[in-house]
Amino acid sequence: AKIKEVDFVKSSSRVKDCPKDGRPEFAMLGRSNVGKSSLINFLVRKKEVALTSKKPGKTQLINHFLVNKSWYIVDLPGYGFANAPESAQMDWSSFTKGYFLNRETLVSVLLLIDASVPPKKIDLDCANWLGRNNIPITFVFTKCDKMKGGKKGNRPDENIREFQEVIRETYKQHPPWIMTSSVTGLGRDELLLHMSQLRNF
Ligand code: GDP
Repeated sequence: AKIKEVDFVKSSSRVKDCPKDGRPEFAMLGRSNVGKSSLINFLVRKKEVALTSKKPGKTQLINHFLVNKSWYIVDLPGYGFANAPESAQMDWSSFTKGYFLNRETLVSVLLLIDASVPPKKIDLDCANWLGRNNIPITFVFTKCDKMKGGKKGNRPDENIREFQEVIRETYKQHPPWIMTSSVTGLGRDELLLHMSQLRNF
């Protein structure tokens, strides 16, 4: 399950423009600031691999990274920018929904959820939408090392449990989920193994 090399392949603005070689892929999705760039860099043990998606003008693109010349990690635009106007949020959803519904080589969406904060509506909405549309999903909880202080701050495992309780209404069977921290390295091997098992399935 080791990652030996990662090559940026291309940025696409439409599903039609994505690579057509049929290699399996995993799409990383999450609220902006969820820790997606950190997670990608922690997976591939390389600095700043995912930064294309952060360059101005590249945020609305589907970014393909080829791993070990055999499968893709796909960096999707983040959702829920704090200050984005409603219209930008709508753009995000029609664009990204098209990808989920039409990308045949998609093995699983890795939906990143920040475990250091209580469940957010936008993440629950996203998880429920994917579930209702039968898109294969893996929940990747990020920042599991982080304890938020204060009265409102739950522990990561409490936040995760709360999240799982809400989405149970949509998912008859709970999708796979993995706790990660790009600070401590928690979950790295588990996530890589999980992806390799899904690819060989
Ligand atoms: P992105 O916008 O989803 O790509 O998020 P980034 O990877 O840029 O991370 C957003 C912020 O969260 C940064 O300040 C990171 O240092 C922090 N962060 C990311 N992953 C972790 C983590 O596993 N633990 C902690 N404590 N902080 C993290």
